[in-house]
Amino acid sequence: MKPQRDLLARSLAAVWHPCTQMKHHERLPLLAIVRGDGPWLEDDSGRRLIDGISSWWTNLFGHCNPRINAALQDQLGRLEHAMLAGFTHEPVVALSERLSALTGGQLGHAFYASDGASATEIALKMSQHYWRNVGLPAKNRFLCLEGSYHGETVGALAVTDVAIFREAYAPLLRPATAVPTPDARLAQSGESAADVARRAAAALEQALERDHEQIAALIVEPLVQGASGMVMYDPEYLRLARQLCDRYRVHLIADEIAVGFGRSGSFFAFEQAAIHPDLLCLSKGISGGYLPLSAVLCTDDIYRAFYDDAVSRAFLHSHSYTGNALACRAALAVLDIFDEDDVIASNRQRARWLGDAAAALLTNRPIAHLRQRGMILAFDVTDASDDFAARYFAAALEQGALLRPIGHTVYLMPPYVLDQALTCELMERATRALDAALAPRQRA
Ligand SMILES: *Cc1c(COP(=O)(O)O)cnc(C)c1O
Repeated sequence: MKPQRDLLARSLAAVWHPCTQMKHHERLPLLAIVRGDGPWLEDDSGRRLIDGISSWWTNLFGHCNPRINAALQDQLGRLEHAMLAGFTHEPVVALSERLSALTGGQLGHAFYASDGASATEIALKMSQHYWRNVGLPAKNRFLCLEGSYHGETVGALAVTDVAIFREAYAPLLRPATAVPTPDARLAQSGESAADVARRAAAALEQALERDHEQIAALIVEPLVQGASGMVMYDPEYLRLARQLCDRYRVHLIADEIAVGFGRSGSFFAFEQAAIHPDLLCLSKGISGGYLPLSAVLCTDDIYRAFYDDAVSRAFLHSHSYTGNALACRAALAVLDIFDEDDVIASNRQRARWLGDAAAALLTNRPIAHLRQRGMILAFDVTDASDDFAARYFAAALEQGALLRPIGHTVYLMPPYVLDQALTCELMERATRALDAALAPRQRA
C-alpha cells in the first residue's frame, strides 16, 4: 500500500496548485510534505530537504520554530481573531508600534491585509486617494521598473512587468509605465553599478518631467527585484529616485514584501540608501512564514490627508481578516527573535558563509553574474536549456534541497538558521544539482 500515492492523486484531483501548469504534473511528481523542522522539510517517504528558498521567501527562523509556536499557543488561548473595524487588540497595536519604531517613526501608521498583492493594492489606492484628497485628482497613474513584480491581483498586475503573468489578463489592466531598471548586470565596460543606477535615474527623471502631473507614485522593489530573477542594483538608484519623487511631488512606494525583515542585510532594504519611502509594503517574512499577513505603513502626511469628518475622504478599504490577532502575534514573536538574537548582526556572518561557499564551489562552472545582497545569493547559468528551471528543481530534490530557479537564474534564500556546516552543505547540494541539470546537455 502506498498512502502517499493516494494523497498525491487526491491533491491533483482537488487542489489547483499555484504558479503551475497542472498538466505538467503528469510528468513532474508532486511532493507531500508531512513535517517541518528548522531548515528542513520532510516528505512522506522520509526524505529530508533543506529549504533553500525559505518556502517562497516567507520562512525566516525555520519551520516549527519553538518560540513562534509558543507565542501562537499562548495567543490561541486568548483571542484568535476579532474584526478590526471599531475594535482593537494588543497584538495589532503592539505590532504597529514596533513596525513604526523600526522606521525611526517616519512611517507611523499601519494598515493591514493578508497577502503581498493586497498590500500593493492598498499602497496604490492610498497614493491615488491621497492626491484626490489634496485636490490633484489627475495624479492617478503609476510608474514601475522594468521587470518589476508586485503581485498578481488585477491592480498589482498593472504594476508588475512580467509578461508571462500579465499577458492573458491585459484586457483587465490599466498598466503602469515601466521605466528602465537599474539592474547592475547592464553595466557597460568601465561602468559601475552606481553608474547604471544613475543612467536609470536619468530615464526616471525624463518620465517624471513629462508625466508628473498624472503620476501618483513610483513603486519599486528596493535593491533586489526578486521575481524577475534576483535582479540586484545599487542603492544610489533609491537615493536619486527619492530626490526625484520629492521634486516632482510623486510618492515613493517601497515594496519590501520580499526584501524586508533582514533579507537584504539591513532590516529594511531602503536603509542602505539612507532614505524613507512614503509608503512601505510588507508581507512574506513578517509572520516568519507562519500565517498570511501583510501591512502597509505610511507617513503622517499621507495619513492626515484622509483624516476628516467626510466619510468619502476616508480610506474605506477592508479585508475580513484585517489585523488578524494570531498573525500579528506571530509577527511579534518574529520581532522578538530579531531583538533577542541580534539577527541583523549574526546574519552578516551567515551571509559571508553563503558567499564564501559559493565562491569556493562555483568556480569552473558555466555561470555569470554571481551576486549577493545579504541573505540572497544568485547566479545566472549560461547556455542552459529552456527547461533548465524544471530540470534543476528536480535535480535539487534528488540532492535533498528545495531550490527553484527563475528561468536561468539559480538563487539561494535560506532561512536565517543555518550554521556554517549546513550553509556549505546547501551550497554543495546546489552545485551538484547544477552539474546534474546541465550534464545530459553537455554530453549531447
Ligand atoms: C511575493 C511578492 C509580492 C506578492 O505577495 P503575495 O503574498 O504572493 O501576493 C509582491 N511584491 C513582491 C516584491 C513580492 O516578492
